[in-house]
Amino acid sequence: MRAKGEKKLARFTGRVQFRLVLGFFALIAALLILLNTYPVAASRDIVFKEKESSLLEQASVIASSLSGLDSFSGDGAAQVIELLGVSGLERLMVTDAAGRVLYDSSGDSAEGKYALFAELVRALEGEQVFWSSFSGGAYLSRAALPVYRDGAMLGAVYLCERDAEQAEILIAFRDRLATVSALALALALAITIIFTRRLTGRITRLSQAVRTVREGNYAQRVAVEGSDELSELYADFNSMTETLQKTEEQRRRFVSDASHELKTPLASIRLLADSILESENMDAATAREFIEDISSETERLRRTSEKLLDLSRRDDGAHVRRVDVDLGEAAKDTLRRLAPLAGKTGIALDCECEPGCVISAPEDDVYQIIFNLAENAVKYNVPGGRVFVSVRREDGRVLLTVEDTGIGIPEKDLPNIFSRFYRVDKARSRERGGSGLGLSIVHDAVAALGGSIEVSAREGGGTRFCVRFPVKAKEGGE
Ligand code: ADP
Repeated sequence: MRAKGEKKLARFTGRVQFRLVLGFFALIAALLILLNTYPVAASRDIVFKEKESSLLEQASVIASSLSGLDSFSGDGAAQVIELLGVSGLERLMVTDAAGRVLYDSSGDSAEGKYALFAELVRALEGEQVFWSSFSGGAYLSRAALPVYRDGAMLGAVYLCERDAEQAEILIAFRDRLATVSALALALALAITIIFTRRLTGRITRLSQAVRTVREGNYAQRVAVEGSDELSELYADFNSMTETLQKTEEQRRRFVSDASHELKTPLASIRLLADSILESENMDAATAREFIEDISSETERLRRTSEKLLDLSRRDDGAHVRRVDVDLGEAAKDTLRRLAPLAGKTGIALDCECEPGCVISAPEDDVYQIIFNLAENAVKYNVPGGRVFVSVRREDGRVLLTVEDTGIGIPEKDLPNIFSRFYRVDKARSRERGGSGLGLSIVHDAVAALGGSIEVSAREGGGTRFCVRFPVKAKEGGE
């Protein structure tokens, strides 16, 4: 039970709000203490100074009057003091050079006795003495001066004053300052609590949102209000969750598209195999036809899974060593490999390659880029059509162009053709063994090399792909 209470207390004192309030409180309290002590001490010192000059002046007037007396005695001193009309003092004493009291204004006369006040003793040693204090609701000041005549010490004057009137002003000032300070402290504390509660409330809102996202709800957003640093953090959080949400949607779509792509050929293989198994007297020609279909579906399955593996390798950011590749040579090689396919529909393959167009890249990637583009140019061409590949330097980059006189891509589909599994004409792509992944692989490979790819409709029908490569891409650009 006790441990639980301690835990709760620790959680409370560990909170940002508590720390902020405590920090502000300590700061304001320190300021107010300073504000309450310094002016009071300063005004007290001013009064001390004023007392010093007035009391010493009074003592020196009395001392110089006493030095003019014919006989330096108690009576003479009493006469002088009366003549001077000295008033407002707590006590006035006159002593001879030995410290024996000649005159004492207080009722309980010490006349004839030795006065051993510290101030008097020091005055009899020739010093001018002043002492003052503030206590018991009054200023208490004492002054003592030696009395000389013709260089010889006659005795000393001792004055003591008690001022409650000025002390009252200081006390009233001190009390008022304390009241105002207490009010200011309470107000500052209230404002601090309100302010920190608002601030920590906003932080709590964000941390709750972070927790929701951590649990997998990427649709979580926080309302952005104002334009301070926290609002910027809110906006950053929202854009981060938006990216996460998009990535997650893409991942889901990719997984479902991929499984669909794999399921379809598998289903037809199963159907074809079942047909063969179930029909007891199928003639050899039909069985062969079915087996050929199974073989082509298997080939499609192999191509799709190969491309999927390639894409996932790219998504993982696997690093592949770069070498110097001559793009022109790679283009000629690729066209040679495509010649049998092109020959089936009488498509002419042409190549115009500037020598020495070398880029630094993984060799397989370069071949894959050229092959996918050129193979599409053949696949989506018309019988007797033409494919034209060119490699040249342009503005410090290497430009690869793959053009065809084929069926072309409708304007509305152009922005999507680099998306995974996107096909303009599903049936046609399937019929030609397509998977909808070729261009997406090309796009990713070009981006990894720091290049760019553009597609446009070719004048007079067909399609044109332009790929620009940096001559020497930076090592580790992937
Ligand atoms: P696929 O494996 O289906 O060919 P790609 O990603 O290579 O997948 O291409 C996506 C789609 O873009 C194709 O299905 C096709 O509709 C279209 N396409 C690509 N290249 C060409 C081209 N040269 N001419 C016409 N259409 C093309």
